[in-house]
Amino acid sequence: MSVSLSAVSDPPFFTVQAQDPHTAARAGLLRTTHGSVTTPIFMPVGTQATVKTVTPDELKECGAQIILSNTYHLALRPGAERVAELGGLHTFMGWDRPILTDSGGFQVFSLGHLRRVTDEGVAFRSHIDGAALFFTPERVIQLEEWLGADIIMPLDECLGFPMTEQAARVAAARTLRWAERSLAATTRADQTLFGIVQGGVYPQLRRECAREMAALPFLGHSIGGLSIGEDKATMHAMITEVVPLLPPERPRYLMGVGAPEDLWEGVARGVDMFDVVLPTRIARNGALLTRRGRLNIRNSMHASSRAPIEQGCPCYTCQRFTLAYLHHLFRAEELLAYRLATLHNLRFMLDLAAEIRASILAGCFSAARDEFLASYRPTDQGVRDQQKEKWLARRATRPPASASDATRPDDQELDDRTGD
Ligand SMILES: [Zn+2]
Repeated sequence: MSVSLSAVSDPPFFTVQAQDPHTAARAGLLRTTHGSVTTPIFMPVGTQATVKTVTPDELKECGAQIILSNTYHLALRPGAERVAELGGLHTFMGWDRPILTDSGGFQVFSLGHLRRVTDEGVAFRSHIDGAALFFTPERVIQLEEWLGADIIMPLDECLGFPMTEQAARVAAARTLRWAERSLAATTRADQTLFGIVQGGVYPQLRRECAREMAALPFLGHSIGGLSIGEDKATMHAMITEVVPLLPPERPRYLMGVGAPEDLWEGVARGVDMFDVVLPTRIARNGALLTRRGRLNIRNSMHASSRAPIEQGCPCYTCQRFTLAYLHHLFRAEELLAYRLATLHNLRFMLDLAAEIRASILAGCFSAARDEFLASYRPTDQGVRDQQKEKWLARRATRPPASASDATRPDDQELDDRTGD
């Protein structure tokens, strides 16, 4: 029989440790079977039970406390039941710290013509072998219980952007019914299920969905369906609508969002958890994160530089290698390039999350945010708009060939559609 998720656990799943007096920013502690996680936190993405190019020990060295994996991808290959037979996801991938699994809703709904949704669930074809599959909320919980992550997401209906208000209303209502079914389907006491708030770019819908999700006995909440093509101001506005309606004692996870500037802006609005493929994906394309913005290591200006990516960065890459060497590796397409770049970008994001947390604990969050944003140059809005148009044009002319095509338009290189 299912374990009541509303049961008071001792100690609690989440504790708010400090609240910024001027914004909604807060610092907290998440407790899971595989250890604690300090928040705000950035979660590296390991879609296929691996954060591309790096080992679990290297992830720890980067400061990773919790990583993400994906139910859709693992259910298709190697199969969730097989992972369970092999000892569960932690054992299978050699990672003994907390894991969060996404439900796969985002991937399934990105299949375009390959899927059909009803109230019962969503029918789709595998992007690997075309096999006909059917996900229901109950089936997804079963898959996630086999995988055994510490934090799990229910199946939700994810719309593309733009969407009509009516479509967003139908999807939010369905997501809510599926959330209730997911709660009823859980049987493991050592996993925590989050409720996902949808509602598109419509404030009223977001508020309604948030209120109804908050009334359900979840221990945490996700904000889904953002960073899919809307502008940043709209994304921020939706977060601002939703957060005050969620119970303050539950953690808030902004799904698929986490560029450096997004961390500061999300935390200021009360978000505790972030994940995005961006730092690892752009790393493999030679885009390295610095406190001034992204650096393109392929640029010939770096060909003879003896400097590290960033002065003072404690990562393995910056401690040992020059920009000139990294430039050479990328130009020569040597495999080490992707790993060294990934190590730096992950360390950058994890150190940034730690810096944000420290500023909240020290009572100087706003000043720290202003200081960071004053020197950090986000990807140019013009470039972002061009990417968005290109992405939308692709979606209009052909449905994605596979769920791995489910990339977000603000990632710098849309041609690297590898899923994470
Ligand atoms: Zn570094």
